[in-house]
Order: sequence, then structure tokens, then C-alpha cells
Amino acid sequence: MNSNLFHRLMIHYGELSTKGRNRDQFIRRLEHNIRHALKDFSISKITSSHDHIYIDFVKEEGDKIIKRLQDVSGIHAISPVIKIASDLDSIKKMALEVALDSQASTFKVQTKRLDKAYPIHSDNINRSVGGFILENSSLTVDVHSPDFIVRIQILNDGALVLGKSFAGAGGYPLGTGGKALLLLSGGIDSPVAAYSLIRRGIEVECLHFAAPPYTQVGVIDKLEDLLRVLTRYQSKIKLYIVPFTNLQLSIYKYSSEGYPITVMRRMMLRIAERFAAHKRISALATGESLGQVASQTLKSLYVINNVTTMPIIRPLAVMDKLQIIEVAKKIGTYEISIRPFEDCCTIFAPKNPKTMPHMYEVRSIEEKWDFKAEIDEIMKSITVKEITEKSQLDAIF
Ligand code: ATP
Ligand code: MG
Repeated sequence: MNSNLFHRLMIHYGELSTKGRNRDQFIRRLEHNIRHALKDFSISKITSSHDHIYIDFVKEEGDKIIKRLQDVSGIHAISPVIKIASDLDSIKKMALEVALDSQASTFKVQTKRLDKAYPIHSDNINRSVGGFILENSSLTVDVHSPDFIVRIQILNDGALVLGKSFAGAGGYPLGTGGKALLLLSGGIDSPVAAYSLIRRGIEVECLHFAAPPYTQVGVIDKLEDLLRVLTRYQSKIKLYIVPFTNLQLSIYKYSSEGYPITVMRRMMLRIAERFAAHKRISALATGESLGQVASQTLKSLYVINNVTTMPIIRPLAVMDKLQIIEVAKKIGTYEISIRPFEDCCTIFAPKNPKTMPHMYEVRSIEEKWDFKAEIDEIMKSITVKEITEKSQLDAIF
């Protein structure tokens, strides 16, 4: 994009338009999120209307601003735009400049008359502007699949010519979908699950089960690095750390062959549910994906899920691993996720985990000791770290 030509961006809402009465609230939230995302740029004005948000920038930062906006959920597309007087000559001149700037070889013109009183019909504007571009450039017309569409909008107080559009992240503005407590491990999947939720407007807080010394302390640094990448999409993310060692040793001690993972996952969900309720969070989320490992068969999920009535969102449930890896690379978490660190699951993984665990067996294991007392103890010693774009605060929950 030529930042000398353009000093304004137009934000297209996409899915927002289907949201009826919530629309105003969505637009306000999106505007707020955009302001925050662009706080380090030279922005002179941000205005929002029913159909678009406009961002006026002052320096040659257009490309960087667009790149930053592509991480903000709830944006369908971003178009550089320029406002001019609405007489046909001004429109023609600017349309030509914008067409040349696009570096396309084929084009067509598409006009929208928002001011219905404008004396020239849209088709005639298209024809006349198209003719002018043909005469004054080497571009040719292709009405079916042009490289570039010169879009013109006629307003009451002028006209807009739109430059080449850039795709946004789509989804909904963060903060419009409530909050979920995500079970975060250091693997590839759960950070992608976090991103998928954020993209749908759901704010995430993360819960990690740590089992030192069986899992290395370094795993927490890894999680912080992962979350710092994700602050691009949600500027503040809380990471709660659950001291899980004692309970995990008990699980290992009392479980029969093939059952520790199933029992462990049930314990994780019990703790997560209690913690979420305490934090007034009404949903849990995981990076589980059907079929990936023994604990992720439908039968297994059924037995694991049975300990909670809270909804559990599994954004990756039916995604292929390759698809998940592709997203992880795109959002920048992949390289961190593949750093070798032991997760509490891998350390305690039995040789032959059950793909078809039985509920009666799980229940009889859990009757062997007072795990509730252990959970009560755990609930008292969960700690929190807040990961922000730059800093990071430690505190005790
Ligand atoms: P990931 O790549 O996210 O680690 P995975 O393919 O390794 O997933 P599992 O280890 O079976 O699969 O974990 C499935 C899900 O369970 C994870 O995506 C995460 O949501 C949750 N989970 C696993 N281990 C932990 C942990 N130590 N703390 C919190 N959540 C966990
Ligand atoms: Mg894992």
C-alpha cells in the first residue's frame, strides 16, 4: 500500500452484521480493541459508524498498522481509503491513481451510491471511470476476475475510493463472548485452542497443572513464552498454576493398569470446574482433538467428562493435527511448543493407556482414597501470573 496516497483505513465488520441488537455493543468493543492494538502508532482519529470504523493515521505506517490490525478479532477486512469531492472529475482522477497504485494489470470499477440523490447512476459512473482508467494507463478491464476492483462509494458529503483490501482475522471482537478457563499444557494444541477462542471473542484465562520435580520448572517459562506470543491477540492473559504433584502420586499409586491418565484427567476437570466457579467463569476449554491419543477417544471423553456439568469447549475436537500445526505456525506458537519439556501427562503416561476405560473401574479406583481432601488442599495453593505484552506480574491467588 502506498502510504503517501492513503492516510485512512476502513474496517469492515463481517460477521458483526448478523448480530442484530448487539451490534452497537460489538462495535464499541471492537473500537476499544483497535485503539488498544494501535496505541504505539501515530493515529490522529478513530471514528465508528454503523457500517465501518475509520482510522486516520499520520505517518508512513500504513503497512505496519494493517499488519497489527490483522491480529484483531472481529475484523473481516481492512481497506485503505481516500475521501475526495464527489464531482465526477475528482473521482476519475483519484480512481486512476488508486488503480495504478494497486499494481494490478486487470481491473473493474464498482460503485455504491449511498447518497441516492446523486445525479449520476452507478452504472454510468462505472463506465465513465473505467473508460478514464483505460485511456490513461496500461490496465485492461476484466469484469469476471479482475486483479483489482476499484471501489467507489458516493456519500452525502463526498466520495470514497478504496484501495486493495487486506483480510482480517474474522470472528468476533474479544470480550463479546464471555470468558473461558483453558487447560493449558506446553504442547502444540492448547495454545491453538486459546487462539481459536480469542478469535471468537472469548477471553481466556489459563490453568496449568504442574508436577514438580517430575516436570521441570522450565515448563513454566515455556508457558509464559507461549502466552506472551498470544498477548498479540489478547493483551493480558492470566496463568494459574496448580500444584499437582501429590495428587498425581496418589493417582499413580491407586490406579490400576492403563487407568492413571483417565483418573488424572477427571481430577483436572474437578479442580478446573471448582476454580472456574470461584472465578465466576462459566466454561472450561481444552486442546483435545479426537483420536490423537488414548485419552481422546469418544468413550474416553465420556468417562472423563462425567465429573463436571460445566460446558467444555474443545475448539480443536475435529481438526487434523496438520491443520492445527498450520495454525500454530501462523500465530507464532509452534516453535515454542516444540521445545522439549516434559508435561505431567508424559511423565506419568502408562505403557498401555485405556482407549475404552470403564466407568465402574474408574469409580472403584477413586474410592480407594480421600482425593477430595487433596483437592481442598490444592485449591488453597494455586498461584497466578499475569502475562502482558511487555511486563509480567507475579502474585499469589
Ligand atoms: P497439547 O499439545 O495441548 O499438550 P496433547 O496433544 O499433548 O495436547 P494431551 O497431553 O492429551 O494432548 O492433552 C490434552 C489437553 O489436556 C491439552 O490440550 C490441555 O488442554 C489439557 N492438558 C494436558 N496436560 C495439561 C497440564 N499439565 N495442564 C493443563 N492442561 C493440560
Ligand atoms: Mg500435552
